[in-house]
Amino acid sequence: MKNQQERRTIEFIAVGSELLTPYFLETNSLFISEKLQELGWTLSCKTVVSDRLEELKQVIKIAWRRSRLILVCGGLGPTDDDRTRQAVAEVLGTRLVFRRDILDKIRLRFESGGLKMPASNRRQAYVIEGAEVLENPNGTAPGLWLERKGRVMVLLPGPPSELKPMVENLVLPRLKKFGEVRVLRSVIRITGAGESMVEDLIRPVYKSLPAKLQLITLATPGDVQIRLEMPVGGGRPEAQEKAFSRVKERVVRLLGDLVYSTEGQPLEKVVGEQLRAAGRTLACAESCTGGLLANRITNIAGSSDYFLEGLVTYSNRSKTLELGVPEELLGEKGAVSEEVARAMAEGVRKKSGADFALSTTGIAGPGGGSQVKPVGLVYVGLAFPGGSTVTRNLFRGSREQVKFQATQKALDMLRLKLRDMQKEAGLK
Ligand code: AMP
Ligand code: MG
Repeated sequence: MKNQQERRTIEFIAVGSELLTPYFLETNSLFISEKLQELGWTLSCKTVVSDRLEELKQVIKIAWRRSRLILVCGGLGPTDDDRTRQAVAEVLGTRLVFRRDILDKIRLRFESGGLKMPASNRRQAYVIEGAEVLENPNGTAPGLWLERKGRVMVLLPGPPSELKPMVENLVLPRLKKFGEVRVLRSVIRITGAGESMVEDLIRPVYKSLPAKLQLITLATPGDVQIRLEMPVGGGRPEAQEKAFSRVKERVVRLLGDLVYSTEGQPLEKVVGEQLRAAGRTLACAESCTGGLLANRITNIAGSSDYFLEGLVTYSNRSKTLELGVPEELLGEKGAVSEEVARAMAEGVRKKSGADFALSTTGIAGPGGGSQVKPVGLVYVGLAFPGGSTVTRNLFRGSREQVKFQATQKALDMLRLKLRDMQKEAGLK
């Protein structure tokens, strides 16, 4: 247990039968772990448990036995299936006490909205004896902060809109009494290689990692993240910072061109910044990605500064009408071909007057593939001042994964082109 505090870990429990169904995703732990890591804490484990009293009590009992710091969310509502207070009180062998001041606040909350408080909300005015009440400005259920024999259990309401401000304003400041740790962090993102290739490339780094530095690789089709994290503590912080930077620079050097960002920004943001800095504009014509590329580009605030237009030209007719792709070319080469990808990119570039244009055409699957043109085959085109290029790609995965990888490839081709052009301009 001492170990838990030294390692700065917290056990997390989410309460709610709905979280065990296909319809509700447990997201509070993601928010909490993100906030915690800023203070140098991590979750040691997380449990999602039903509203059934016996199951809830069992989970709380186990947590209370093994962890010094426990965060429980959910089950503080006014209805019969909200039993977290009762379960905790029973496990700890304490009483629930009625607090008139809390009831008055709950009643006032209803009345200020012109409503009468339902009788069931009275439950929420019961608190565990000896617990500190954490005010909930966005709901009726207050939170509770409980300390017993050097152990802490925090109860918070489940709705994210209520939990989030309480974590930020009430829980994190109270955790600071356990000491603060500064955490150095870098999220290196790459595209164009799979996880195993990345592992092979960065293997030399593993030999000389500082003991406290954690290196985690997260891979999804089309994107790999290498997260570096290191708490700074004890003597000589400068030396620790230097050691961290050395590892980061080494990883970046080993991965070379594959790296598109070192602080976690998504590719569409990186490319947007490049376009803005160069004062250049972009358009796109999409077939198999169905607008995903334009969607990603426009997810970045301020993208109207450089993004002129995006067309979804899904049919052959649309490719001809909107982009001027010759009918004969479509007939001869097929819509999924290098030639058509090129004609699409050049067509939308000309039509929009943009400096750069991207195009996608491929077979996203799961059906529609052939031996010559298998599922996952995507041609990505890039037209730029003075020319155009097309890549032939074979992506794996579901329809959505193929679409994402195609947009990732398109953005990355543009990133590298912009970088090369900037280099050339610098040489002149
Ligand atoms: P409760 O505090 O149990 O009354 O929670 C009420 C609602 O908050 C639930 O119906 C969920 O929609 C939401 N909720 C509860 N716990 C979580 C969680 N861990 N992650 C995301 N949403 C949650
Ligand atoms: Mg609930």
